[in-house]
Amino acid sequence: MRGTQAPLKFAITSKGDETSNTLTQKIKTYLLDFDLQYDEDTPDLVISVGGDGTLLYAFHRYCRRLDKTAFVGVHTGHLGFYADWVPEEIEKLVIAIAKTPYQVVEYPLLEVIIRYINGGREAKYLALNECTVKSVSGTLVIDVEIRGDLFETFRGDGLCISTPTGSTAYNKALGGAILHPSLEAIQVTEMASINNRVFRTIGSPLVLPAHHTCMLKPVNDVDFQITIDHLSLLHKDVKSIQCRVADEKIRFARFRPFPFWKRVRDSFIAD
Ligand code: NAD
Repeated sequence: MRGTQAPLKFAITSKGDETSNTLTQKIKTYLLDFDLQYDEDTPDLVISVGGDGTLLYAFHRYCRRLDKTAFVGVHTGHLGFYADWVPEEIEKLVIAIAKTPYQVVEYPLLEVIIRYINGGREAKYLALNECTVKSVSGTLVIDVEIRGDLFETFRGDGLCISTPTGSTAYNKALGGAILHPSLEAIQVTEMASINNRVFRTIGSPLVLPAHHTCMLKPVNDVDFQITIDHLSLLHKDVKSIQCRVADEKIRFARFRPFPFWKRVRDSFIAD
């Protein structure tokens, strides 16, 4: 719960289309009228207006101060998984933000550390949804180590390592299970693995607990196309890609209950 002392500092991230920009202006004016402070650099609360992609963008913009920032999403297009408020509820949301101490729920994140050959600087990323690894050309061939032991040599289109909240995104399309975000875990799913009498992979999604690290190590090719949520980059001379549950968490501001399974049902089953 928030204390009542200092005025709440907020920022708004808009998808950038006309509807989202108009709504952003409206929310900003309302909140300023309530004497809240607009602060793009050090906000306590980030309101994302758009869709899931907008919330992913907002997360990455503020991912260096996750312990001090909470997120809430308003969707201006179809129902979002992370953006659960609709434009018609804006007045209600604004009053809730301005008047009540809000509850914060924390969800696990994925930490990805990419190390390079020749001792280049390692790169550390946090993912809200997932990390995917693909070859730049042809089949991805990569060793998968779990807790320091070789588990398999993967051959196929790629691998996806997802968070529990990301389990309803790309992971789901790959046949992965949906994980409740109270589980501190990551899930490894395959993209079209090659399985025959010569090459063999497990073929099932793997769910790893927080203290188990998944390390991917190149077999031949050392260049990979790696995505962290919506961000896709070509990484050259890769020595290893280390994935595990991050120490950091994302904090969502909750102004009303919206249980995870209801969110899943509303997103995929109910219309
Ligand atoms: P985008 O515009 O291609 O949107 C992808 C879709 O994923 C949108 O409908 C979005 O609402 C939905 N989505 C995002 N996060 C979700 C979540 N946690 N649970 C349920 N649905 C979710 O791309 P974007 O908006 O920049 O989002 C990037 C995400 O797209 C990636 O993190 C990845 O999960 C997802 N993606 C999915 C597939 C697939 O399902 N085959 C392929 C590539 C990327």
